[in-house]
This record gives sequence, C-alpha cells and structure tokens, in this order.
Amino acid sequence: MTLHLDDVTVTLGRGDARTTALRGLDTTFRPGVLTALVGPSGSGKSTLLAVAGALLRPDRGRVLLNGSDLAALTDGERARARRERVGYVFQSGNLLTGLTAEEQLLAAASLAGRRPRTLRTRARELLTEVGLEHRLTHRPDQLSGGERQRIALARALLLQPELLLIDEPTAAVDRTRADDLTALIARTTHQYGSVTIVATHDPVVTDAADATVDMLEQATPSAV
Ligand code: ADP
Ligand code: MG
Repeated sequence: MTLHLDDVTVTLGRGDARTTALRGLDTTFRPGVLTALVGPSGSGKSTLLAVAGALLRPDRGRVLLNGSDLAALTDGERARARRERVGYVFQSGNLLTGLTAEEQLLAAASLAGRRPRTLRTRARELLTEVGLEHRLTHRPDQLSGGERQRIALARALLLQPELLLIDEPTAAVDRTRADDLTALIARTTHQYGSVTIVATHDPVVTDAADATVDMLEQATPSAV
C-alpha cells in the first residue's frame, strides 16, 4: 500500500483559534519504509497523522491509499478501513476503560474480525516485546502514560496494519526502552511492508528511520 497526500490543507478551530495546521502538503509514503515525521511542536505532525488515518477530513486536497481517495468512501467504509487496515497509536494510548492489557489487544483483534484465540500467544509476545509482560492483567487506570501507549503500540502491531501511524512513541520512556520500541517498529515495518509514519522529536527514532519528512519544509507556503 502507498499513501499519497496530494495538496492537503487542514484548518482547525474557529474564530480567533482558527489555524492552518497543514498547508498544501504534498508527500508520498511507501510500503516497508519507516518515515520519521519531524518538526517543532505545533508544526502539524499530529494533524498529518489524523488526516492519514481518516480521522480528519482535509479542507482541500486528497488522501490517496493505493490511488483511491479516502474522501470518496462512505463513513461506514472509512470506519472499516480504519479498523482493518490502519494501526493508530495516539500519544494518550486511547485504551478502553476496564479492560486489562491483554484484553485491549484481543478486543481490537476481535473488532477487526480476527479470532482472538489464535492471537493470544502473539498478543503476549508483543506485550513482552514492549516490556509489559508483568502488566498483562493491569487496567488503564493502573498504568503509567508511557505504559498505556506501549499497550496501544502492541495492539496496533498485533493486527499487522498496512498503515501504521504512531504519535511520539518514545516521549514517555527512557533511552533503553526507546531503543527497543524503535527497533520493534522498524522490524515490523520491514517484515510486513507497512507504511509507517512516526511523529517524533527523538534522535533514537530519526536515526533508525529509513526516511524523514520535515514539517517545516513541507508546511512553508510556496512564495508567490
Ligand atoms: P504537532 O503535532 O506538530 O505539535 P499539531 O498537528 O498538534 O502539531 O498542531 C498543528 C497546529 O494546529 C498547532 O499550531 C496547533 O496549535 C493547532 N491546532 C491543533 N488542534 C487545534 C484545534 N482543535 N483548534 C485550533 N487549532 C488547533
Ligand atoms: Mg503532536
């Protein structure tokens, strides 16, 4: 799968808060490539992930998955594409209240139409790989922010999505853990050929990435 953003403009907020978060963005992301999305805070990294993951509709321009426009899908089709093809790891983790770490993974698999029983072993492996083998039965309110996000990462990886969108995965972990998470993301990208975009400030991630997209270069409106 290839993701192409074609002249994408996104404005957010109303009145005085109205902001052009992306302006005429034009970029292609290819399968099997881990792209680091860099740029200062406020430069539109999270907005780009939201547009790519069909959570946000651009005001202008097109988001093309394998050449077909996300905007042309019905709401139902878009929701389905998100569930089955996109792994989205928010900074907040976005876990379901009341479910244990292991259940978070199995519930997502079930929603995507996979049979949880066959995935249990892999779910435990992934939770081990993100360093949470001792937290399998913890619920979100019993976990730190960094731990919650790592569960969200394991949950996304379990489904081997074609498009993997990850917002600042190493912001809340130490250096050793950042190395491990980055290696896991890179390995998964290369193994399954996902289009992987990681918004980050972290040199650990940018050093390991196959490509870099700098929001400042992208977002600068062309001179007239
Ligand atoms: P980054 O992830 O690079 O820090 P964001 O994509 O979160 O940047 O934000 C891009 C710009 O859009 C910022 O200037 C931010 O203040 C603004 N912004 C984000 N969300 C909203 C919103 N709901 N309303 C208005 N402006 C917003
Ligand atoms: Mg952000």
